[in-house]
Amino acid sequence: MNPENECSRRQFLKTTGAAGLGLLASSAAADFLSAQEPPRVPTRPFGKTGVNVAILSMGGMFDIPNNQLMLRQAVKWGVTYWDTANSYEGGNSELGIGKYFAKYPEDRKSIFLVTKSTAWTLKGMTEHLNLSLERMRTDAIDLFFVHAIRSISTMDKDMQRWGEKAKAEGKIRLFGFSTHSNMEECLLGAAPLGWVDGIMMTYNYRLMHTDKMRRAVDACAGAGIGLTAMKTQGGGQVLTNDPEELRLAGRFVQSGFTEGQARLKAVWENPQIASICSQMPSMALLSQNTAAAVNRARLSAGERKMLDQHAQANSAGYCAGCTDICEPALAASVPVGRVMRYLMYCRNYGTRDFARSRFQALPAETRAVMDRLDYTAAEARCPQKMPIGRLMREAISELA
Ligand code: SF4
Repeated sequence: MNPENECSRRQFLKTTGAAGLGLLASSAAADFLSAQEPPRVPTRPFGKTGVNVAILSMGGMFDIPNNQLMLRQAVKWGVTYWDTANSYEGGNSELGIGKYFAKYPEDRKSIFLVTKSTAWTLKGMTEHLNLSLERMRTDAIDLFFVHAIRSISTMDKDMQRWGEKAKAEGKIRLFGFSTHSNMEECLLGAAPLGWVDGIMMTYNYRLMHTDKMRRAVDACAGAGIGLTAMKTQGGGQVLTNDPEELRLAGRFVQSGFTEGQARLKAVWENPQIASICSQMPSMALLSQNTAAAVNRARLSAGERKMLDQHAQANSAGYCAGCTDICEPALAASVPVGRVMRYLMYCRNYGTRDFARSRFQALPAETRAVMDRLDYTAAEARCPQKMPIGRLMREAISELA
């Protein structure tokens, strides 16, 4: 452990006492795990689709073939919404789900199974869909997403026809998209289309209270589109080791929740959000998040205020995904928002290999130009005051 992290850890433990270990166990989790028959995760309607989904979704960005017990436990606790993608773990995520269904075929009917394609061409999506069905040993995907769109223009008439055909063939039941960039515009554009069944978007305690996000979520909820929130921990790209952050974590632990659980609960307090997709690569995190999902206690006004204050105090370390603002200000095409996300995967999720593989998949000419580009104009436009140039260069040294 480097000295800086050790210092933070010591500070954290000092701030929270023994409860500092609440990152691993909160009193909510202890109650949940010690119950003879733990309650199951509640469900909510997924828009107007007629399907009820678990409010906690198992994100599949981990080594599922070698962690089959996680899926078994998820079923027992009612975490029956599973999210994966063609690209996760180089295909191993879907293969791991297929391995599970081969062993427990009776569980398939209780799972709301979601996968995504980043092909962005109709032919490529068809190939990905067929491969996903084969890998996961299933006849149909419950919800198929066009992954990571940056503009609603991707969801054009051809895409609509592709979705309708896949449904008619019985290969998918519902169709939609996911987005980490320009989420508000994508949602506002989707609401009037009338054929988008579901959306998964970046949405968290930092973003959910802006006027634009409220309008976007209202529009989709009004149109009956099912909404799943992701990136709900709001992890930033700038690592601060901020004592205030540690104090905040300690305050939540003292009130029975971890800070992470409080962030989930803040999102669930909006009934327009059907589910939260969370990457849970360990049993500890699965039990923490499940405990938060089954616990009906609401955040107190003081806890909500703490999260708001934290969001405001640390806004300069968090990329809000508004790539339409910064990327056009650059003299060359650099996917700033995507690189920010890879930094977040590396620094906050601890998935360095995945972040590196995504970064290295960027075109060579993009990576070459990133280092010498002038980011001054983009930084001047950024509403979050992100040090874009510094972060792009750090991404090169950490992920290249
Ligand atoms: S760097 Fe700034 S402008 Fe660009 S997407 Fe992130 S928050 Fe928005």
